[in-house]
Amino acid sequence: MLGTWVMLLFQWIVKKWPRRYWLGIWLVTMPLMVLGVFVSPWIEPLFNKYEPLSKNHAGLVAELEQVVERTGTNIPADRMFLMKASEKTNGLNAYVSGLGATKRIVVWDTTAGRVPDDVVMFVFGHESGHYVLNHIPKEMAGMAVGLFFLYWASAGFAGWLAQRKGAKWGLLTPEDSVEASAPLAHRTGFVVLLFVVSLASLIVEPASNAFSRHFEHEADVYGQEAIHGLVPDTQKTAVNGFNALGEAYLEDPNPSPFIEFWEYNHPSVKTRAEFAAQYNPWKNGGHGRFFAQ
Ligand SMILES: [Zn+2]
Repeated sequence: MLGTWVMLLFQWIVKKWPRRYWLGIWLVTMPLMVLGVFVSPWIEPLFNKYEPLSKNHAGLVAELEQVVERTGTNIPADRMFLMKASEKTNGLNAYVSGLGATKRIVVWDTTAGRVPDDVVMFVFGHESGHYVLNHIPKEMAGMAVGLFFLYWASAGFAGWLAQRKGAKWGLLTPEDSVEASAPLAHRTGFVVLLFVVSLASLIVEPASNAFSRHFEHEADVYGQEAIHGLVPDTQKTAVNGFNALGEAYLEDPNPSPFIEFWEYNHPSVKTRAEFAAQYNPWKNGGHGRFFAQ
């Protein structure tokens, strides 16, 4: 439904600015993207049930408060909620959501009380990492730059393709091909553009996955550092956390490196657990990347 409206809008832009339509489409994409990110904390509560986390998990509240204090996210205990996710998923999650007055901590009921508290603290530490390190704005900026070049290149390639093959494929009428300067001003050229963009996003996917894996790794490091000193064995807790994640999401315990490179937006559970097991910047009195101790 929304997709149809977006398509119509894009088609209108192509008609309106036949030569620089890709720039127009890019400009329209930006606020849509930002809206998607900022609206979700308001949409999410409409479809889910919450209760105060302290109602049945007072101990966990106290432990998460320690992580909150160490990470400086400044969220009071009465802004921690248990979300009923068990009807929809087996997954594990504990994260910061919303902005300003709506800022809160959400722990899924698949997680609190189902996995050990130190693992919940680690999952929450990882998610806090995304929040503290501004991964969402950074990802949006990266996407903006990436889409700019994707649209520009796609439009160029689509124009070239429509000119060369349009008549043969029956996409352009003879009059269309005469106006070689603006081949995509026409409804028909739009089909070529869609084709080219879907082709290009195939190539873009592994690139954006590589970005995402970089941020996930950074959040893993942050999460491990965030619980250091709060749990008895930082490395062991993190490894247990990744094993629990792998089981909850039924992830392939040993994916081929190519599949991981091409399709995974997180490093595989195996890669993450191997890193966690040996990550110990505190030995010999050192400290990690994000915390002074
Ligand atoms: Zn993450």
